[in-house]
Amino acid sequence: MSLATPQAFVKDPSLVWQFYSARRQAAFSAKPNAAHLALAALSVKHKDFITVTQNVDGLSPRAGHPPEQLYPVHGSLSTIKCTSIFCSYTEHNNFKMALTPALAPSRTPTDLDAQPPTIPLIELPYCPKCGIGMMRPGVVWFNETLPNDLLESIDDWIDQGPIDLCLVIGTTGQVWPAAGYIEICRGKGAKVAVINMEIDDNPHLGGVNSAEWLFKGDCAQILPDILQPIIGSMDEVRELLGDTDKFPPTTYSGGPVTDLDNNDDITGGTGEGTGYY
Ligand SMILES: [Zn+2]
Repeated sequence: MSLATPQAFVKDPSLVWQFYSARRQAAFSAKPNAAHLALAALSVKHKDFITVTQNVDGLSPRAGHPPEQLYPVHGSLSTIKCTSIFCSYTEHNNFKMALTPALAPSRTPTDLDAQPPTIPLIELPYCPKCGIGMMRPGVVWFNETLPNDLLESIDDWIDQGPIDLCLVIGTTGQVWPAAGYIEICRGKGAKVAVINMEIDDNPHLGGVNSAEWLFKGDCAQILPDILQPIIGSMDEVRELLGDTDKFPPTTYSGGPVTDLDNNDDITGGTGEGTGYY
């Protein structure tokens, strides 16, 4: 919580970038699990199903979850954006292990309590479009508002009509506004199923009190089971999704990059032992 704020980034961008580089490398090294695949398959089979996620790890897109049915309300570690107020350049699905040579995995400390090195500002990621603004992680930090366009899209979806079912998966249900969607869905007629490891430990878990179904355990085991009548077996899910660990191509918004030489200089780093460039 002390590093995931705009104030921390302004005060010590070197430290915050090292923290997020470690998080990016951990997330990009992980693999989508059976729960990511089950939700992706449900989305493919049912175009009127959406997933609102607080996860920033990018594992659902990699599982083949249709992007138009996925609302990552806390942003994504694979998104980076320019901090200049005069520039809106953003990269989506940037899965590079190292954004600059100074942030290569071999140089990213995993224990940030152990006095990480101070990286000179010039060696941190800069915007390839304007060349002036430092890039920052595209996650929603504490003290920041959630992306309005996403929230409006979710509201539009809710306004379309009655809702059959709300799956509350692996969340304490205490972070707003996502927690509020449980009651909103109920107001639209939805039955509520809670899937969580800690149902017994947390009687105030969002939605537990009024849920029709409680499933205690690992969602990577429970979701494939309870969705099986709709999505089929996991073998069928894998066949439906094809490659079940794909890195979606990088896309850009905020205008074309004009200073390509600068881009080469700034982002040309290659981390060791990585393959996603
Ligand atoms: Zn810029």
